[in-house]
Amino acid sequence: MELNRLSAHELMGLLDKGDISHVDICNSIIDSIDKKDKSLNAIVNFDKGKVLERANAQKGLPVFIKDNICVKDELTTCSSNILKGFRPPYNATVIEKLLNRNAILMGKTNMDEFAFGSSTETSCYGTTKNPWDLERIPGGSSGGSAACVAADEAIWALGSDTGGSVRQPAGLCGVVGLKPTYGRVSRYGLIAFASSLDQIGTLTKDTEDAAILLKIISGHDPMDSTSVDRPVPDYAKLIKKDIKGLKLGIPKEYFIEGMDKEVKQSVLDAIKKLESLGAACENISLPHTEYAVAVYYLVATAEASSNLARFDGVQYGLRSSQAKGVIDMHKKTRGEGFGDEAKRRIILGAFALSSGYYDAYYLRALKVRTLIKKDFEDAFKKYDAIITPTSPTPAFKIGEKTEDPLTMYLCDIFTISANLAGIPGVSMPCGFTKSNLPVGLQILGKAFDEETILRIAYNYEQGTEWSKRKPGI
Ligand code: GLN
Repeated sequence: MELNRLSAHELMGLLDKGDISHVDICNSIIDSIDKKDKSLNAIVNFDKGKVLERANAQKGLPVFIKDNICVKDELTTCSSNILKGFRPPYNATVIEKLLNRNAILMGKTNMDEFAFGSSTETSCYGTTKNPWDLERIPGGSSGGSAACVAADEAIWALGSDTGGSVRQPAGLCGVVGLKPTYGRVSRYGLIAFASSLDQIGTLTKDTEDAAILLKIISGHDPMDSTSVDRPVPDYAKLIKKDIKGLKLGIPKEYFIEGMDKEVKQSVLDAIKKLESLGAACENISLPHTEYAVAVYYLVATAEASSNLARFDGVQYGLRSSQAKGVIDMHKKTRGEGFGDEAKRRIILGAFALSSGYYDAYYLRALKVRTLIKKDFEDAFKKYDAIITPTSPTPAFKIGEKTEDPLTMYLCDIFTISANLAGIPGVSMPCGFTKSNLPVGLQILGKAFDEETILRIAYNYEQGTEWSKRKPGI
């Protein structure tokens, strides 16, 4: 049996019966990585010897971690040259929570530099490939986590989602990607991109695993003042209830002109399936959707420019050896250390925050953000969840959008609003194009109601075969 192909809950069953050991699971994953990762480039920091040592000592499940989540004494670089060699002196709270459950930390996954991107092409480690078609991108910025789960190089993985970075790569790689409500999971030890939008999320083979992993990493943390003190439900149990009588909204703004026809058809078929499972679907409007991309790229870059000010060659990672004096050292370190997309975002954000432009850009964006949030609040007065495509197209070719940042930014048109509103969202496979590329279905929910969106996802998954398909790699 190829243990690497199983889900976490299937493996837990086998472990309980004593049929397999934790070392067997790790060995099967190591074999899979040896075979596939040269072509995929999903994993960036991985030490076989260390993993086997941990597997012998720790009786938990193996997990991969996106390269922007701090693991004590392990390379954590955000796939950026500016953090070359950085080993954090502490664990992120999610890592502590995983270790409390004896998880075996496998290593780090590739990502867009500082999570800026939708294709994992801006990483200093090179592009990750999509396991369904090696000429295509896996999505991003958690492309490494999505690809390694899809290719069975991992059982499950953590990612982060600021504007879609868990859901979009999950959609393009055919796995389940969950972005929890803002405040559900501690951000302590997640290297900040945009602090009012960032959330750590899960990439798993199915919905039950998403429910299990969410429960493990959730909860209030005194180290993150934005984490919320609310009980964490037993998601894995609650999602198994049927969905009869649930009311689902289908926003017309998410079925736009120019979107891929096969994507649209798969999502419409999924909506029919949900109706056949007993949900009532109605068309709705989220009228401020058209402003989401513009608002996001002001808020996110403004926060990023401020968060990235700390990378100056003094305390972390790279320090330019060419510099004369301290100011020159800051300049040269940042010039050499950041890639083009990071520089673009820092400049955009600093501009939006600069005096004279602050009111016209940043402040106005915050006001529109409130309107976008209100769209959802109004919809959720009547509906239990909202159903949309995850992305307007399936995975595109490597290099296709790198010359034109705006077309890249538009990839996130369906995922960004959830971060602006702080609500949870899950992406799951809902079909395949004729050329065998996965299509993602997005389910958005009320704040702190991960339970309902996972319940809808679980029922849909039970009624379809999409999640069982595996890429040929
Ligand atoms: N693709 C979006 C961006 O480039 C979202 C990234 C993310 O969620 N980290 O900002």
